[in-house]
Amino acid sequence: MKKYPMNKDTQPNLKNADLVDTFSRTISYLRLSLTDRCNLHCRYCMPEDDTKGLEVLQHEDLLSYEELLRIVSIAVDMGMNKLRLTGGEPLVRKGVLAFIARLAKIDGLDEIRLTTNGVLLAEKAEALYEAGIRKLNISLDTMRPERFKAITGVDRFHKVWQGIDVAEKTGFDVKLNVVAMQGVNDDEFVDFAKLAVEKGVEVRFIEFMPVGSDSTWDEASYISSSDLQEMIAKIGVLEPLEGCRMDGPARVYSLTMPDGKKGRVGFISPISHHFCDTCNRLRLTSAGRLRACLLHDEEADLKKLLRSGATDNELRALIRQTILDKPKGHTLADDQANCSGQMSRIGG
Ligand code: SAM
Ligand code: SF4
Repeated sequence: MKKYPMNKDTQPNLKNADLVDTFSRTISYLRLSLTDRCNLHCRYCMPEDDTKGLEVLQHEDLLSYEELLRIVSIAVDMGMNKLRLTGGEPLVRKGVLAFIARLAKIDGLDEIRLTTNGVLLAEKAEALYEAGIRKLNISLDTMRPERFKAITGVDRFHKVWQGIDVAEKTGFDVKLNVVAMQGVNDDEFVDFAKLAVEKGVEVRFIEFMPVGSDSTWDEASYISSSDLQEMIAKIGVLEPLEGCRMDGPARVYSLTMPDGKKGRVGFISPISHHFCDTCNRLRLTSAGRLRACLLHDEEADLKKLLRSGATDNELRALIRQTILDKPKGHTLADDQANCSGQMSRIGG
């Protein structure tokens, strides 16, 4: 039951009341997984030689762009103002550029960001910029072409590298996401930190998470952010940047090299320093299910409600309920059994 008047003109300060969860967090950031398909097969996400039956959704199982626009409009009307498009690979979904252009016209949506593997960026960067995206997270776990192929199953390193270049030249604010994996790319962490200095892009190291029932995660491949930080502190001085803590879950540092050159590196530590107390996210999976926590499998079937002819108020009520059901935090450190969802459907 609503405890406040609906009239926004008389109660503008309560616009976001629907977004506050039971732990006083304001859930203002929506992540949409546009598809669970991808043009890469990262071995920790959707391995090509998958023998465990990783199913991909059929087109009719995905929410249509019209359906997504309706949901985003309702979420924005509730006060959400930031959106991230992810996947699978969002750029492989047909019509994505026209969809983004329509999203960009939604009044009250301040920012649309995109997470991509970069394979299609060189050809799509300009159109993406025109459609309204300004900030890109590009995932790249290695700068060695052979290793790239070993991790992703596909020989596309040079395409991604070119995509990063074109994205920068187009004027995007680019961040590189590196999943830190012991025994896989640990000999490149320092090179990535140097790249942050040389290229002027923020490089963010993500702790490897045990997501998905067929995850290749094991204790031996996990490396904590603090161990990583120690490795990088050997080549330069790391100083925490004030105010950056709230820029999503990354703790961001300036890195000053002995020659005085500076760069920015971030650490995303869902396992060792989880950021659940400040989490402001809600996810809509590519299967059309609302998910309040990346690392908890509880989901609400928004697609079913939507396709049963629900009114905007009914959809809004389900979003509200999912926010209220958002768990206080994850318990991965003690229990890995609560996250068997597919990363490509959830969207990271
Ligand atoms: N295909 C796009 C990409 O790779 O950027 C977007 C989707 S992908 C699922 C989003 C992010 O999740 C990527 O940066 C990817 O590296 C990261 N990711 C996937 N599985 C992960 C895991 N088990 N632990 C940490 N990060 C993971
Ligand atoms: Fe594709 Fe991204 Fe998953 Fe890699 S991490 S398989 S690029 S969705």
